[in-house]
Amino acid sequence: MTAISEAEKAAALEHVKQAEAAVWTIPDVPADTALRPIAKATIVGAGTMGGGIAMSFANAGIPVKLVDLDQASLERGLGRIRGNYANTVAKGKLTQEAMDQRMALLSPTTDIEAVADADIVIEAVFERMDIKLDIFRKLDRLAKPGAILATNTSMLDINTIAAETGRPQDVVGTHFFSPANVMRLLEIVRGDKTEKDVLATTLSVARRIGKIPVVVGVCDGFVGNRMIEPYFREAEFLVAEGASPADVDRALTDFGLAMGPFAMSDMAGVDVRWDVAKRRAGLRPAGERYSWLVGYLGEAGRFGQKTGAGFYRYEAGNRTPIPDPAVDAFIAQEAERQGVKRRAVSAEEIVNRCMYALVNEGADILEEGIVARSSDIDVIYVAGYGFPASRGGPMYWADQVGLKKVNADIQKLAQDFGGHWKPSPLLARLAAEGRSFADFRRE
Ligand code: NAD
Repeated sequence: MTAISEAEKAAALEHVKQAEAAVWTIPDVPADTALRPIAKATIVGAGTMGGGIAMSFANAGIPVKLVDLDQASLERGLGRIRGNYANTVAKGKLTQEAMDQRMALLSPTTDIEAVADADIVIEAVFERMDIKLDIFRKLDRLAKPGAILATNTSMLDINTIAAETGRPQDVVGTHFFSPANVMRLLEIVRGDKTEKDVLATTLSVARRIGKIPVVVGVCDGFVGNRMIEPYFREAEFLVAEGASPADVDRALTDFGLAMGPFAMSDMAGVDVRWDVAKRRAGLRPAGERYSWLVGYLGEAGRFGQKTGAGFYRYEAGNRTPIPDPAVDAFIAQEAERQGVKRRAVSAEEIVNRCMYALVNEGADILEEGIVARSSDIDVIYVAGYGFPASRGGPMYWADQVGLKKVNADIQKLAQDFGGHWKPSPLLARLAAEGRSFADFRRE
């Protein structure tokens, strides 16, 4: 399972190369679509994401205004940007002159009217619908006609945001990944009314600022975060059944992932996952198996690296995850209380169940037409989630295993572990027809 030959690796790398070349084509958007001119950008929200996005524009030589509520927030945001550039200069990877030029392209302001001359506005304020709607009402009033109005929301409905304006055709999601000045992936979220030239122009902006964009449809979590949820959940079930968080992480990093699910949760913030878990709790069918570990950590204030403890514990100033007996003890105790039988869990089972969780959700995403092609999902996972390019991405990996086997294994997981496994109908159909994800195209 974990072994991989040089020939297999070369084929997977070639697949990733072709997959990255394919993202620039959107099936129903003609290649010669006239682009809207983009010379100036405004970013609303100078926090973690807004700062990184602004840097990406400045790095590409595009003047960018940065809007925040008050001077203190702006200063904080600019200070972070300056610090980032200064680090790169100190490492010898950027000249002081280039840094000065980039800083000079940034204009901070507390006046939202600064959006008036922007060709593209990217909103990156707090993840709250009421605040986003208020911003988009203002953008509708102030932005010039034809300006692209983008939101960096991670999970709010783009259609609701677009409907708040009188110009929903100009609204699009630009889901950057953190740190936004470093991460190459950009999910471009297409709303029901997003105009084709807005998509084509946003793709071209992505090219200018050095991103790998993937156009995705509206759904909860878009593609990357929607798929990561069942993957995290499966990882937690494996832990309830007898593996430790470190066992699970090790099996997956041995497989080739840059980071295992628990170290990743601690880095991204357990509180973010806890919010998702709380939101979804009400939607879960009664009696369906769910993971209780995130709730325990959340209630204990163990939000991950930022609080010095999460699935692991951390020593001050050090990001190395250290297994924590307190977490192991809680898991053992809670598993017993819930009647989960503990047993030895092999690395092979860990990899298969976590990969199958990704692939099964990916198959649903493909069937729903949220992406144009299965290789788009591979690009998202390789560019944004530390999936090994040497394995080509989750959908390519499944095609190599063979969909007949993947489907049979997932059917068996559904039998053995019950209701939370909902085998994908598309997967079953392709397996029966002897086909692969790669040759599936929506009619
Ligand atoms: P943050 O808290 O670091 O920054 C938000 C900034 O917006 C703050 O500086 C705040 O002062 C400012 N702000 C709030 N209301 C405003 C208003 N009305 N006008 C102008 N500025 C306002 O948040 P963040 O982590 O940068 O997240 C921003 C957005 O990006 C959210 O929608 C989030 O879901 C999304 N996102 C975050 C990540 C991540 O990893 N942090 C990843 C992808 C997407």
